[in-house]
Amino acid sequence: MNDLNMQFPHRRFDPLRGRWVLVSPHRTQRPWQGEVSRTDNKPALHYDPECYLCPGNTRAGGEKNPAYTSVFAFVNDYAALLPDPPAKKIDLGNGLLLAESERGLCRVLCFHPDHSLTLANMEVDEIVRVVEAWTAEYKELGARPEIRHVQIFENRGAMMGASNPHPHGQIWATEHIPDEPAAELATQLAYRAKHNACLLCDTLRVELEQAQRIVCENDEFVALVPFWAVWPFETLVLSRAHLPSMDAFNQAQQHGLADILKQLTMRYDRLFATSFPYTMGFHQRPTDGDTHPEWHFHGHFYPPLLRSATVRKFMVGFEMLGMPQRDITPETAAERLRAATG
Ligand SMILES: [Zn+2]
Ligand SMILES: [Zn+2]
Ligand SMILES: [Zn+2]
Repeated sequence: MNDLNMQFPHRRFDPLRGRWVLVSPHRTQRPWQGEVSRTDNKPALHYDPECYLCPGNTRAGGEKNPAYTSVFAFVNDYAALLPDPPAKKIDLGNGLLLAESERGLCRVLCFHPDHSLTLANMEVDEIVRVVEAWTAEYKELGARPEIRHVQIFENRGAMMGASNPHPHGQIWATEHIPDEPAAELATQLAYRAKHNACLLCDTLRVELEQAQRIVCENDEFVALVPFWAVWPFETLVLSRAHLPSMDAFNQAQQHGLADILKQLTMRYDRLFATSFPYTMGFHQRPTDGDTHPEWHFHGHFYPPLLRSATVRKFMVGFEMLGMPQRDITPETAAERLRAATG
């Protein structure tokens, strides 16, 4: 479909997640006011004595952070997963009340010792250190025999529930492949079986040909608003090469990922003149021992903001009970992010 004059309600198919998204562009035909309600940006501290992630500070669990100068990773003091719960599987009601133990690990990765920074205002070389640390975590956790999936993510901003502004992300490694990557595993496998090709390589080719939803790119990566995006300014970060995971990156690709993350987060911050909140994370080859030739490395950015620094989108009503819905089209969102340069 190349008919983007669809200014009427329609639905779009997300072949990666295997679901439909309702788009209602007629609701946004009012001209854009360009309103940006700036949030109160307090002067940022480079070091906060109260922050449990700053170098040299003592965490709630009593451990003291080293005086780290680059990245720093540790096991989450309040981990949602533990490495050694008793192995148990129970059925309390004819297969209707099932439960089983889940082994795993939760780690925290500080991106930088400076409390005031974000990915958007770190240097690309500093973000390369973060990419290297993510790669090491993915390899090390994924090599554990009981770990089948490693989820790297970042919650940014109080709106997304991030309790601490210090630049950091999380890594949750689990015994089972969680629902989102499991759904993407099924769609990528099915696409490969049917077309003998990669779903995301083919998607990237079509997106580059149409050039309607591209936000920014470099030699190694492309960031775009997918045709089927759910969140208003959702983006997908795709490697140009068909690579399954970060451990397959060469140095140019590590640098390319760092660069695209900086380009993209800078645009987000400029869009509503605020430190843009989001959840972002990478979907990589499951670490279950298979080679996964179908899997294409990618990152998702799910930002909640809709119209300004304070007006967010809610996933309620029809979206909880029916299907996801959006007003601003992915084409318009991409255009606005492309323009958010200075
Ligand atoms: Zn801090
Ligand atoms: Zn591919
Ligand atoms: Zn994904």
